[in-house]
Amino acid sequence: MNLARQIELYLPRQLLELVQDISRQAAKQKQRVYLVGGVVRDLFLGYPNFDLDLVVEGDAVKLAQQVAENNQSKLLAHRRFGTAKLRYENFTLDLATARKETYAKPGALPTVTPGTLKGDLLRRDFSINAMAISLASNDYGELVDPHQGKNDLEHRLIRILHPGSFSDDATRILRAVRYEQRLGFELEAQTAQLLKRDIPMLNTISGDRIRHELELIFKEKQPELAVRRLAELGVLQRISPLLKGDGWIAEKFDRARRLKKSTQLPSLYFCLLIYSFSEKGIEQFLAHLNISAKLSRAMRDTLRLKTKLPFLDKPSLKPSEIYYLLREYEPVAIQANAIASDSSMIHRHLQLFLTKLRYVRTSFDGEELKRLGFSAGPEMGKVLQALHKAKLDGEVSTRADEKKLALSLAPKLKWQRR
Ligand code: ATP
Ligand code: MG
Repeated sequence: MNLARQIELYLPRQLLELVQDISRQAAKQKQRVYLVGGVVRDLFLGYPNFDLDLVVEGDAVKLAQQVAENNQSKLLAHRRFGTAKLRYENFTLDLATARKETYAKPGALPTVTPGTLKGDLLRRDFSINAMAISLASNDYGELVDPHQGKNDLEHRLIRILHPGSFSDDATRILRAVRYEQRLGFELEAQTAQLLKRDIPMLNTISGDRIRHELELIFKEKQPELAVRRLAELGVLQRISPLLKGDGWIAEKFDRARRLKKSTQLPSLYFCLLIYSFSEKGIEQFLAHLNISAKLSRAMRDTLRLKTKLPFLDKPSLKPSEIYYLLREYEPVAIQANAIASDSSMIHRHLQLFLTKLRYVRTSFDGEELKRLGFSAGPEMGKVLQALHKAKLDGEVSTRADEKKLALSLAPKLKWQRR
């Protein structure tokens, strides 16, 4: 099957020109080069995916150097791994020397040796990710599909390439579910069976790798689908017995998405994911997954604040009271509680803090108070705090109001105009 025409229609013009240039340079160097992985899958599905992965039978770094020289793209080479990254306009291309991987033991990082395209495809996770398209001049556009990936795409199936796949690398358990749910596919029957059998193999991979897979899931459009499926398969419970993937999570994730800009969304998902944990239970989870200090703080804050929510369920709270209750918590933790709480009053108070109160500043700062005749020290600190509180509660609004209040608070200080 030849896909030259499809590539032409699928790739943006600049990227197509670059791919064609790579093809020409490879021919000159007598190397064979292929498009592989996600882009081939997504080309068939008609989904845009312009993070191109290329495999070179030969020397990817040498080819990338020539291409970079030719069209002034930026080159980042890892000679030791035989890989190179090209940046051209807004596009990045990864070039890798074809390689074979063998696993000394389950979960170990693989031993890598140079190899052929076929060997390179065999080490991949699923048949739909194990297709390639030749860019060699004599068979440009030819599909290479030794594992019937195209057939599985047509039948909407996620299939591993050999029965030892999940135990070689248990991150594939999480990857399988991520693709299944993203694409609305199904696990092929034997793959599903082997996945269930190999769930205990999750214990052979590091917490870092599990966290990374969760992060990838949290970048999906609807991560709750994968989370629910992982729970259904018993995978989530293996990561932590405290994790749940029920309808509650689905509803809250959906709500999070409607409230939050995408940059902080993954952190928010993490905070919601552990919402049912105890403060003690979370520690083991944070350590196991080696969660960053900042995110750990947000996740701990989420649970700490959860226990304080009843204080926020009162209609008579002043803005300054809300502020003092919440100022020590990470904003993401506050957001998580706003989403999790069923009380509209609590929700309103938390949102008031997030959208307004935390940004309230007095017009006067220490320097300006000094110019009014105040001397630095604890006294001035108290005045500033009182100004801030009055501003939060709407008792002062203009600069003149603040000045009047400041002076009234320190009648014994002599005010000198400069
Ligand atoms: P997407 O980025 O859309 O999730 P992708 O196919 O580009 O999909 P990447 O995670 O970027 O996925 O990986 C690139 C390719 O590397 C995959 O298509 C797959 O063939 C291979 N791959 C990635 N991780 C593994 C793994 N754990 N085991 C085997 N192959 C893998
Ligand atoms: Mg990719």
